[in-house]
Amino acid sequence: MRLFSIYKISFFILLIATVPVFAQKQTKDQFVKSLMDKMTLQEKLGQLNLIIPGDGSVTGTVVSTDVEGKIKKGLVGGMFGIAGLEKIKKVQEMAVNQTRLHIPMLFGSDIIHGYKTAFPIPLALSASWDMPLIQKSAQMAALEATADGLNWTFSPMVDIARDPRWGRVAEGAGEDPFLGSAVAKAMVVGYQGGNGSANLASGNSLLSCVKHFALYGAPEAGRDYNSVDMSKLKMYNDYFPPYKAAVDAGAGSVMSSFNDIDGVPASGNKWLLTDVLRKQWGFKGFVVSDYTSVTEMINHGMGDTAAVSALSLNAGLDMDMVSEGFLNTLQKSLLSGKVSMASINEACKRILEAKYDLGLFEDPYKYCKTARASEVLSADKRAFAKEAAMHSFVLLKNDNQVLPLRANQKIALIGPLANDKSNMLGTWSINANASASIGVFDGFKSRPGIGSKVMYAKGANLSDDPVFAAKINVFGEKISIDSRSPQELLAEALTVAAASDVIVAVVGEASEMSGEAASRSNLDIPASQQKLIEALAKTGKPLVLVLMNGRPLTIPNELKWATAVLDVWHAGTEAGNAIASVLYGDYNPSGKLTMSFPRNVGQVPIYYSIRNTGRPNGGDVFGKYKSNYLDVENSPLLPFGFGLSYTTFSYSKPELSGTSVTVTKGITASVTLTNTGNYDGEEVVQLYIKDEVGSITRPLKELKGFQKVFLKKGESKTVTFSIDEKMLRFYNADLKYLSEKGSFQVYIGTNSSIENSATFQLK
Ligand code: BGC
Repeated sequence: MRLFSIYKISFFILLIATVPVFAQKQTKDQFVKSLMDKMTLQEKLGQLNLIIPGDGSVTGTVVSTDVEGKIKKGLVGGMFGIAGLEKIKKVQEMAVNQTRLHIPMLFGSDIIHGYKTAFPIPLALSASWDMPLIQKSAQMAALEATADGLNWTFSPMVDIARDPRWGRVAEGAGEDPFLGSAVAKAMVVGYQGGNGSANLASGNSLLSCVKHFALYGAPEAGRDYNSVDMSKLKMYNDYFPPYKAAVDAGAGSVMSSFNDIDGVPASGNKWLLTDVLRKQWGFKGFVVSDYTSVTEMINHGMGDTAAVSALSLNAGLDMDMVSEGFLNTLQKSLLSGKVSMASINEACKRILEAKYDLGLFEDPYKYCKTARASEVLSADKRAFAKEAAMHSFVLLKNDNQVLPLRANQKIALIGPLANDKSNMLGTWSINANASASIGVFDGFKSRPGIGSKVMYAKGANLSDDPVFAAKINVFGEKISIDSRSPQELLAEALTVAAASDVIVAVVGEASEMSGEAASRSNLDIPASQQKLIEALAKTGKPLVLVLMNGRPLTIPNELKWATAVLDVWHAGTEAGNAIASVLYGDYNPSGKLTMSFPRNVGQVPIYYSIRNTGRPNGGDVFGKYKSNYLDVENSPLLPFGFGLSYTTFSYSKPELSGTSVTVTKGITASVTLTNTGNYDGEEVVQLYIKDEVGSITRPLKELKGFQKVFLKKGESKTVTFSIDEKMLRFYNADLKYLSEKGSFQVYIGTNSSIENSATFQLK
C-alpha cells in the first residue's frame, strides 16, 4: 500500500478524535516520527532543501539546477519562484508519485501585499493604522494564493526601519515597535486564518514566514545587505518586538536575515536562532534562511561551504534557501562530527510538522483545486484592493480646501505616473498582473461626468538619466524615457495646465526605486520631475500633487510649491480608481505616516522616539553647544503619525481617572475629540508615554496606544485609553523586562509632535 493512503487513514483518525490537544499533538508527533523512521539521511537533508527553478523572478545570482532529478530523488523539501495552479500541481505530483516516500512539497512565494490582485505596499497599509483592514489584506491574499497552488508566504516583513535610504522600508510597517507589533500580529493571523496553526489546514490559509530575523532594517548607511551593529538594549526595546509579536501570534516559520549581528551573520547565529527565538520566545516552527544566505557566509568570512552549513544547522537554521550547502555538505559534516544526527532530525521534523499543519499529508493537492480558480482577481479582491488603497493615503497638505475636487472643474492631469499601469503595483508584485491594474488617468476617465473634463500630459520623464533608468528596468520597463525632449514634454504640460482649473500632478518614484536592492543616497523626487512641479506651480493654478513613493522622500520644496499633497504610495491594482475616489471626496483620507519624513538626507536615521541627550535642542532654533545641525533643523519635515483630513479635529486636554498607577491598578486617560470641519471623517488618535526618569536613558515619547475614530461633522466623542503597569515595562541594562517607579507624561493627540499631556506616577 502506498504511504499516501496511510497518511489519509492517520489523518482520519485525527479528525474523529475528539480528544484534547495533547492527544492530537501525540498524533502529529507519532505521524512525523513514523515517517522519519523510514527516511534515509539524504531524504532528511532533502527536506531541508528549498529550491527555485529559475524561470520566474529571482533575487539572487544563483538558481537551482537539475530540479526534476532532485525532486524525484526526494532531495527537495519545498520550492518557490513557481506560479500557477497547473504548474504547481504537476510538481507536486512528481513529489508525491515519483519519490520513495511520497512526501508532498511546500510551495512558497513572496506574497507581500496581495497576490495577483496587488494591495498597497506594506508601508502604505501600515499608514491606515487599521488592524482589521491589514488582517483582511493578508486573509484576502491567502485566499487568492491558495486558490492558485501556493501554501507558504514569505511575509510579513516586520523589520523596524528608520533610515529611508534603505529601499526595503517599502515592505514593512515603518519605524515604531508598538505599531509594528500590531501589524505583525494582524498579518500572521490574517494569513494563517487565526492565532497559531489551528486553521492552517483549512486549505485557504497560508503558512506565514516572519522576516528578516533579525535587525535587517538597520543596515549601515541604509545600503541593502550591509552590516548591522546595534546594542542589545536597542534590539530588545526597539527592533525585536515585532518579530516577537509575530511569533506570539503563532507564525509557522521565520526567515533569517542576510546581515550579521554582533559579528555573526544571522543564518549562523546561535544566540539569535536558538537562545532568543526558541529559548526566550518559545518559537516552535522552522527557520528558513534567506536567499543563499547560508553560502553568503563564505563572503562574510565565516569559512567554506561545509563550515558555514554546519554553523547554520548548529545555530538552529532548519531550511536552506537555494544555496544547497545543507544538501551537499551535511552528510560529510555528520561523519566528521561537525554536526549531530539529532540536529538534522530536529530540522527535518520541524519541516514535516509544518507540512502536517498545512494538511498536505491529508491531501497534497489541497491547494490545487481548480474549482477555486475564479477566486483569483475576483471582484471582491479588487473591491478590497480599492478600499485598502483609499485607507492608506496620507493627506500631507490641503491649502484653501482645494481638495476634494469639484465635479465641474477642468483638470490637467500631468506627470510621468499619471497614465501608467505597472508602477501602480509597487515593489514585490511579482505575481500581480500589470495589465489588470488601473492607472490614474483610467480612474479619472471612468468616473461618470468627469472623463470629458480631464486632459492628460506626461510633462516629464520619471528620470531623464538612462543609466539610472537601466538599473530600475532590470525586470521590465518602469522608467521609459520619452522620445520627445524634456522641453517638449514640459511645453505640452503647460499648455494643458493653462486650459485647466486645477492641476493634478502625479509624481514620485517608479515602483522599483524602492524595495530590495533599491537603496538611495538621495531621497529627492528625481530632478526631471522637480523641474516639472516647479514650472506647474509657477502657473499660479491650484496644484495638487499625488505623490507615489515606496519610502519617505525629501520634499520640502514640493510641499511649499503645491497647494495640496496626497501621498498615495504605490497603491496596487486599483490605484487609479482609489485615487480618483479620494480626490473627489468619496472617501475622506485618514492615513497617518508610519515613518518620519526628513527635511534632507543628512538627518537620517530619523525617528520620533529619540532619547534626549545631555544637550538637547528641543526647538528648531540653532543653539551653540547643543545637539543640532548648522544647516538644518532637528525636527523632521513631517513627523511620525502625521496626516490631515478634509475635515479638522480638535482635542481637549487629556484627563486622567487618577494620578497613580500600581502593579494591580491602572488608570484611564481620555480626551474629547471633536470634528470641527465640514466633512465626516476618521482620525487616528494616538497615545504616547514618556518615562521621565529611568535606570537607562529613555525615549522622549513612545507610542502606547491608538484608536481610529469616525466622527460625523460637528460630532464629539470621548476617546479613552487604559494605562497599566505592563505598558510601562522595558528592557533594562541587564535585559530584564520591567517597569520602574516614578513620574510619567501621557500625551494624546494627532501625531508624535504633540505636546498635549498630563502627568501620573507609577507607585
Ligand atoms: C529576500 C527575501 C525574499 C527571498 C525570496 C530575498 O532576496 O531578501 O525577502 O523572501 O529573496 O524571494
